[in-house]
Amino acid sequence: MLDPLVRLPDGTVKQVNPISGTKVWTLPGRAARPLAVTRPSPLPLDPADHDRYCPFCWGRMLETTPEIARVVRECPSGVAADGAADSATEDAKQRPRWRELRGLLAEQLDDTTPEFRLFPNLFEILSYDYWHLAHGFDPTPESQAHRTAYLSTPLGREHVTALARTRMRARGMVGAHAEPFDEDDLERESVALFAGNHQVVVARRHFVDGATDDSQNAGSGTLTPEEHCEYTRFTVNAVRDLYRGNPHARYVSAFQNWLRPAGASFEHLHKQLVAIDELGTDVEREAARLRQEPELFTRWGGEFAEARGLVVARTPTAVAFAGVGHQYPTLAVHTSNTTALPWELSDDELRDFSDLLHACHAATGTEVPTNEEWHHGPPSLDLPIPLRALLKWRVSTPAGFEGGTKIYVNTIDPWTVRDRTVTRLHELVAGGRVSDRIEVGPR
Ligand SMILES: [Zn+2]
Repeated sequence: MLDPLVRLPDGTVKQVNPISGTKVWTLPGRAARPLAVTRPSPLPLDPADHDRYCPFCWGRMLETTPEIARVVRECPSGVAADGAADSATEDAKQRPRWRELRGLLAEQLDDTTPEFRLFPNLFEILSYDYWHLAHGFDPTPESQAHRTAYLSTPLGREHVTALARTRMRARGMVGAHAEPFDEDDLERESVALFAGNHQVVVARRHFVDGATDDSQNAGSGTLTPEEHCEYTRFTVNAVRDLYRGNPHARYVSAFQNWLRPAGASFEHLHKQLVAIDELGTDVEREAARLRQEPELFTRWGGEFAEARGLVVARTPTAVAFAGVGHQYPTLAVHTSNTTALPWELSDDELRDFSDLLHACHAATGTEVPTNEEWHHGPPSLDLPIPLRALLKWRVSTPAGFEGGTKIYVNTIDPWTVRDRTVTRLHELVAGGRVSDRIEVGPR
């Protein structure tokens, strides 16, 4: 096999991804360019807009689909953020408590402040009809009960009717504007609205606390390590529930597009989860390789990164390193547990993974457009595939050369990615901005 990472005499770096085979060349002299994209001049921010800036903001909750679940934070004093009494034990009162609430009605949405919300995507990649007609998928009993309860209240009914009209309008259907709205239309659209297999996890803040202009977005790296861990846990559990709720889901893709150049519709921190009825090309390729080489991820993850000086940071059970052979400059975070499904990881293992991913985001900075892609072994495959995340810096645009050769030209080689990240991480550690559980590599 070719060496996946070679530096030629003139400084050109040739990479081949050891798992996917993707070829990437980094040409000398192009790495010093700044990472951040040029954005329009920041506009002053009206404090009243902080929580109402986009449809994902929690001040505009009726613009998204009915919420499946939310995570709320209860204060250490034992008084919940919404003022309700807390029955926590003395021990649990020492630190913030995170609680998941499920199946709220429209009238209850403002009773608590959601730190993270989970709801179906209004326009899903694979529709309810796709799953229902191709596979006989039916909504889970929980989803059906939530729909019935939600539609039984005036605000819930109004909310779902408005969304049903929006969906029908987008498909150019007659009846979208009907007054009153047709009951059969409401029935059909609402089943799909509550049973979507494409879901969104949204964080509370659009802007960082105290933001004064509209460029100060709150991203993964501006969350606290603890908030990021709850974001990760909530996402992992939602992935689990998609598999459990849909026996025809062979893979659940989880990803985060950050900023418009990376494909985000709204510049408000969120992840998307999409169930699909195939494994997808990456997992199929990995499965074939793993049957020949069960140690694939151990060998080409931490061990290779260590041997080639690419490790950025470690926690006891996870490692972050500069990835090799990715279309864009990439940081990879791998858990060392290759046998557990993501939701079977222990609290410490999940924390180890989350802390490193958070640190990679913090070091990258919110001004850089990124894609965060999660990869894992689905429950139907009994193969040693660890949970891992790739954080891709979308700092270049593939063009004709890439299309014609399938060789990607990248502006920053893996060692430069590693060095930039490590330098920044040492500053962040000194400032207490990332978890104290992580051990950053030497400068
Ligand atoms: Zn927003």
